[in-house]
Amino acid sequence: MSDLVLGIFGLLAIIVLILLVIASHKNNGAKLGVGLGLVLLFGGDAFAGVNLTLPGFVNQGGFFKIVIKEDGKVRSEFYAVDFAGGAYRTFLEEGGKHVVFVPVGVAEKIGRIEIAVRKEDGALLAREHIEVKLVDFPKSKKNFQRMPYTKAQLARLKKEQESLKNIYFTEFALIFFGTDLIFRQPLDGEAPRISSEFGAIRKVKVGKDPKIYTVRHYGIDYPVPEGTPVFAAENGMVRFAGNLLGAGNTVIIDHGHGLFSVYEHLSNITVFSGDFARAGAVIAYSGKTGNATGPNLHFGVKLHNVWVDPKYFFARPAELGRSTGGAR
Ligand SMILES: [Zn+2]
Repeated sequence: MSDLVLGIFGLLAIIVLILLVIASHKNNGAKLGVGLGLVLLFGGDAFAGVNLTLPGFVNQGGFFKIVIKEDGKVRSEFYAVDFAGGAYRTFLEEGGKHVVFVPVGVAEKIGRIEIAVRKEDGALLAREHIEVKLVDFPKSKKNFQRMPYTKAQLARLKKEQESLKNIYFTEFALIFFGTDLIFRQPLDGEAPRISSEFGAIRKVKVGKDPKIYTVRHYGIDYPVPEGTPVFAAENGMVRFAGNLLGAGNTVIIDHGHGLFSVYEHLSNITVFSGDFARAGAVIAYSGKTGNATGPNLHFGVKLHNVWVDPKYFFARPAELGRSTGGAR
């Protein structure tokens, strides 16, 4: 674990010199009150000259893209988008467009949800809505069984969770992914076979405890034989390459803007924390380490600290929603 910590500090020291570290959305959340106050003061007047592009709807467990263009000479350095209790900061794209990818949790409430766009000073710029659609996530028929964690394992779990928080809460302003945000599959082939979908609800029994726990599956499982090459889904910085209690041998790649891809239950890992991985490069070989029921690759995607369905990154399916065009 100390290698991990050293790796992160080394990486941070280099990157802080060349780019801004975006504060975690927790900090932005404090401005929410200011934004709401300004709605009352300015009403609709503040909305003139703002062009907002976003899809009409989004699925639970999905994400959506908002493009913000503001007319006039004085523009904000960045914009903050409030959605469902989270605050998300934009990054600048070519042509002066500000872009933000917003995650939608698997259990997000469905229906019309408000989106507020604020300037860097917290002033409300625009308000819009997006419809969150219900997804019927699969329910696993079989029960999963695991041994209860020992005291030592629980202590290890706590330590690991702290280290992972440090990784996921650091958002680099640098963007390693293409703005179309299309990943390649982490395995060979266009559509590798899937054994467990993202969002699946599983029943888990722990040791002799008669209670049945329900646990979400926050990734896609690909049943592949041990030793199958695993590829980086997109360009990015390796932020973790090591062993985790339940996940086994794991690689976490940081693609910038709070977007991470995660590869679990690996056998051999061929990259180190701090390495830059190109999309399609071999980063590891699949295995069955950790709480794997058999050999498989578990592939997860985290966006601004929310697990989202990796399938939305492999293509741009119609179900991601259609554009409503500019608002106001
Ligand atoms: Zn899995």
